[in-house]
Amino acid sequence: MERKTIAAISTGMTNAGIGIVRISGDRAFSAADRIFRGKEKITECKSHTIHYGYIVDGDVTVDQVLVMVMKGPRTFTGEDTVEINCHGGTYVVTRVLEAVLKQGVAPAQPGEFTKRAFLNGKMDLSQAEAVGDLISSENEYAMKSSVSQLKGNIKNKIYDIRNKIIYHTAYIESALDDPEHYNFEGYDAKITETVNWIINELDTLINSYRNGKIFKEGIQTTIVGKPNAGKSSLLNVLAGHERAIVTDIEGTTRDVIEEQINVDGITLNVVDTAGIRDTEDKVEKIGVDRAVDYVKNSDLVIYVIDSSRKLDENDEKIFDMIYDKRKIILLNKSDLEAVVSRDMITEKAGDAPVIEISAAEETGINELSKTIKDMFIKGDISFNEEIYITSARQKNALRTALESMMKVKESIASGMPEDFYSIDLMDAYEALGSITGEAVGEDLVNEIFSRFCMGK
Ligand code: GDP
Repeated sequence: MERKTIAAISTGMTNAGIGIVRISGDRAFSAADRIFRGKEKITECKSHTIHYGYIVDGDVTVDQVLVMVMKGPRTFTGEDTVEINCHGGTYVVTRVLEAVLKQGVAPAQPGEFTKRAFLNGKMDLSQAEAVGDLISSENEYAMKSSVSQLKGNIKNKIYDIRNKIIYHTAYIESALDDPEHYNFEGYDAKITETVNWIINELDTLINSYRNGKIFKEGIQTTIVGKPNAGKSSLLNVLAGHERAIVTDIEGTTRDVIEEQINVDGITLNVVDTAGIRDTEDKVEKIGVDRAVDYVKNSDLVIYVIDSSRKLDENDEKIFDMIYDKRKIILLNKSDLEAVVSRDMITEKAGDAPVIEISAAEETGINELSKTIKDMFIKGDISFNEEIYITSARQKNALRTALESMMKVKESIASGMPEDFYSIDLMDAYEALGSITGEAVGEDLVNEIFSRFCMGK
């Protein structure tokens, strides 16, 4: 199928040292030739070489550039690719792109280069998704799990499982068609072993989503507590320690500022309820009413108590509000004389960790980080062999496959004939194929790639 040659700016749109305009497709070389002035013609260059020269647009010299020439299929997209490294001023880069587009090259859609890599068989869908994830990684774990997926860890695992399924479906077909040469003697035991293995593998993958989701999206965290307990101070300490990436989340109803904080390689998306309290009413004052929604939607609640002041009915209210949440209780201001002790809150705290800290003197913060990590990350994390599913789409496909495999298991156990469950085997096969992209419709493919950024 003939695809249009496409181009886009692949670097960020801010003034920078270098900007890259990428061109991909059959006409990439000839289009680049028409605007490039250098020693050699691009169409005559050896593949995977870099050339110095100028980009011209009519009689205007636009920039001095280095041009990378790469012949398909040994390229990211699998197609002939030219990357023009120009000076990174946003105007200059845009002008270079403009010159390229005048040669009958189409502007690339977001994610279109990666989509082509997928369509040209350079990577499967799980790897293509990993490219998007890697770009949006915000912490060490997210980066490592994306890279592992990019290397093909998920692809290979799915491939293994699907191979086993197809072997058995084929065997069942053959035995039904040609009973003289194939038979089902001792077959139950054999297929049961495989089915159990598959169920176990699928289970492990599905369970990895818990960690995977946290790597990718972070822990939704709400800090609650009475005024002056030290919530903002805590946030500052946490942020300052790990260099906060502060993002204003627009469109939230009350203009709440959610801060992203990196704690030991995990991202916390923190809502500080100090910012949403009202000053009028006493109950409102502690932000309880308004905090309710945030608390409801959070994975973790951090309750900051000023341990130098007596507990009162507001604390009761806060404890009630967070009783069924995963929480950590901080006895702050441990540098001052304590009037609230651990014992006084044990009953209310349940099995939640209680940590003494001083936001002012920055003590107890490491224990807090470690506690958060232990609460949310299950087991030792290594990225050598383990696979972490980070996409809900993949998890759902795995669930569907698991359900089908459970049906197979039941059918075998209740002595059903082989052709009865071969259809469930195929269902599992198909569901798994949607992860790697072997059995997905165009709509889904478009949907996935449209989430990418421009130029990737
Ligand atoms: P928030 O209303 O809960 O956000 O509380 P703030 O973070 O604004 O802190 C209220 C006051 O308590 C400020 O004057 C802080 O300097 C002080 N404070 C916060 N943490 C500590 C602490 O650990 N020790 C002491 N001595 N003072 C603290």
